[in-house]
This record gives sequence, structure tokens and C-alpha cells, in this order.
Amino acid sequence: MADENKVPQGITKLETTIETVTKSNNSGKPKSKRKPILATSTMNEIMGDYFHELDDASNDPNSLVAWCTSVGPAELLLSFGFKVYYPENHGAMLGTKRVAMDLIPVANAIGYSPDICSYLTSDIGSFIKHDSPMLTAFNMKEFPKPDVLAYNTNQCRDVQEWFAYYSRKFKVPLIGINSPGKVDDLKDEHIKAAQGQFEALVEPLEKISGNRFDEQRFKESVKLSKECTILWRQVLETAANKPSPLTFFDSCIHMGPAVVLRGSQTAVNYYKLLLAELKDRIDKNIAAIDDEEFRLYWEGMPIWGKLRNLSELFMEHRTCMVASTYCNSWIFEGFEPERPFYGMAKAYTEIFINRSERIKEQYINEMVKRYNIDGIIFHDAKTCPSNSNARYGMPERLKDKGIPTLVLDGDLNDLRCYSEEQSKTKIEAFIEQLEEGK
Ligand code: SF4
Repeated sequence: MADENKVPQGITKLETTIETVTKSNNSGKPKSKRKPILATSTMNEIMGDYFHELDDASNDPNSLVAWCTSVGPAELLLSFGFKVYYPENHGAMLGTKRVAMDLIPVANAIGYSPDICSYLTSDIGSFIKHDSPMLTAFNMKEFPKPDVLAYNTNQCRDVQEWFAYYSRKFKVPLIGINSPGKVDDLKDEHIKAAQGQFEALVEPLEKISGNRFDEQRFKESVKLSKECTILWRQVLETAANKPSPLTFFDSCIHMGPAVVLRGSQTAVNYYKLLLAELKDRIDKNIAAIDDEEFRLYWEGMPIWGKLRNLSELFMEHRTCMVASTYCNSWIFEGFEPERPFYGMAKAYTEIFINRSERIKEQYINEMVKRYNIDGIIFHDAKTCPSNSNARYGMPERLKDKGIPTLVLDGDLNDLRCYSEEQSKTKIEAFIEQLEEGK
């Protein structure tokens, strides 16, 4: 097991903070104490190793580094031998450490609007200021230097513009997939349209890396990604148990390896460990929240700088946020190791964020049933319209079907868009309403 003292300050450190909180309950019920997840120390260790290896590769002229969007063509990059860095993961780290507010204005000053993705603005601000918890936590002198930048617009347009900035800065090639968007029923023509683009990346990647495409290696990285993704799904599905052994706030932390280490045996091993622990909790009837009374669903981006406060607030009210669209976004059922290009195109095109309003609503309805959800919190993230689903009447339509919903205004990183007091009042009123409905 890892030595916890070696855990650097970064996104993973938050776990310790969340888990050691002990709360008294307003209703006079006994204090609820969050149970630490034992696998956390292993996760901290492998995440630390990931950043150190990335740094080593960046400083070694014979190694290759690619920057990739969170749902970009990671498996293909891995097959060419690139170490893969994910700027969105860095954006989440800036949000969690609450330094984003100092960094966003730096990007605004060079013309990146405060209205666009606050991962983008905080990340670019961090780069310009050379100020990041990643650099200090992992003893890195510089951001990992890319040999190539690879995006997929399956999530939004912002990622392309974000990577275009770094392509100009580092003078390295920008390659990517422009996915068919807002897909209603997924058809073969959608998959084929993306598949051709994935295949077209091979030639530039051969030139950039100096390595020939190795189909076997590609199949292997897709196979490992698929294994990781299935295990991650099983981890999340343990929350269907009543009481749930984990919360959305735990999952936001423990998704790290699924984001940055998918395609590796390390991630597969980690989720086997985590899954075993959660199953053991179920066997022993250990709940994430003592006396779980309500089970909620989180729709939209996390509010990274407020994870701890929100976690405490819900714990205080014996409410478990059992599931979320966000954490489910790293489940890629479509991977097919024997048809790697087709499967990758399918997996990355059919993701929730890239679907029509109708398909999204259908999906959320299924989640409500699967997880026995009492109500849904929609987070309307100001700078992420692509992952905010409260704007076209969905909460009202679900309410009409008897599912209580609440819309919270906020943002993933820009806390100027979030009012702690107003949100607390709204959440408490919502839980009261659930109590009255029981
Ligand atoms: S989906 Fe939202 S949070 Fe993610 S990169 Fe796009 S705008 Fe930013």
C-alpha cells in the first residue's frame, strides 16, 4: 500500500478531506460519519505515478507525449507509445483546489471570454501564469510538452479551440475527430462517419511518432480500456444497493484512473480493488451515509470547488447522491477489441453528451428506475451549456412524470456563478419537500 504521507497536494487529496468530515444533524439525530474508502491510498499512489511518468516522458527527448481531450482517441495514441495528458483533468484539479478564480481572468485578458468553458480559461490562465497545483504537487518544472494534440468534438466545440491555443504555442500538430453531433437514434452511418476520421489519424500519428501503426497494440489498448470501463460501471452500479456504499462525491474522486489511465492494466487492477471493497461494504451493510433516507441523482458537471461543502450538506440531511450522468460518462460499452476502429467510433459517438434531448431524457428516466432515485439535482453550469440539461424544459417534463427536480445555478470552476447560501436554501427546501412527499 502507498504511504499516504507521500500523497502530493492535488485533486486526490480532496478525498481525505471529504471522508474525515463528521457532522452533527440539525434534526438532532446522531452524527453521521463518512467511511473512508481504503482503496484511496492506492489510487493516490497510481495517480502520482501517472504524473511522474508523464513528467519523465516530457523531459526525455526519446519519449512521446500527446495531449488528449477527455473522451478523445486515447487508445490510438497509447498504441503509438505516447504518454497521454488530459488538460480537462488538470482543469478539474484547478477547480478542486479553488485556484481557478485567480487564473480565469488571465485567459480573459488575452481574449478568451468569461462565458466559455471555465476548464479552458482556468487551464490556459494556469499555463500563462505558470501556476498550477499539478506543478507543485508532482515536482514538475513545466507542463508536459506535447508532440501532438488530439481532440474529439463529441463533447463540445470548446475543446478544439482550447487545443488550437496550445498548438500555436508549442508549434505542434493539432489533429482530431469532428463527431456527428446531437445524435438521436445511433445509426451505422454515424459510426462510419466517425470511424473514417479515426482511421485517418493513423498516417499523421505515424509521421509524428516515427512509429508504424501496430494493430495488435491498438487492439490491446482498446481491450484494456473496455475492461476498465466495465469495471468502472460495476463500481458505479454498487450504488444501486440500498443503502448505497458510495456517493457521487466519492465517484468524482475515484474516476481519476478511468479518465487518465484507461487503456492500462493499472486502471483495471485499481477498479478490481475498489469494486471488491464496495462489494464487501454491501455484504456487511455498510452505507456511505448513515441512515440513508433519500437517494438523489446529480445531472451535469460537478461544482469542483464545492464538492466538500455539498458532500457535507447532503450527509447532514441523510441524503445520498447515488448516481450521476457525469461519472457514467466514462463507461464506454461500445468498444470492440476485435474491431477497434469501429468500436472506438461507436463508443465515443454514442456518449450521453453527444445525444439528442430525447435520448438524454430517456437515459435519465432509466437511471431513476435503476437507482431508485427520489429526486434529481440539475446543475446548470454557466460556462458549459453542452453538459447542462436544464435549459430546454427537461426538469419540468420529469416533474410532470412525478420525479422531483431542482435546478442549481453554478459552474464547474467559475465560482462567481455559484451562490453558496442560495444553493443551501434551495437544497434544504428540496429535501423538505421530499420529506413531505414520503
Ligand atoms: S464539455 Fe463543458 S466542461 Fe467539458 S470541455 Fe466542453 S465546455 Fe468544458
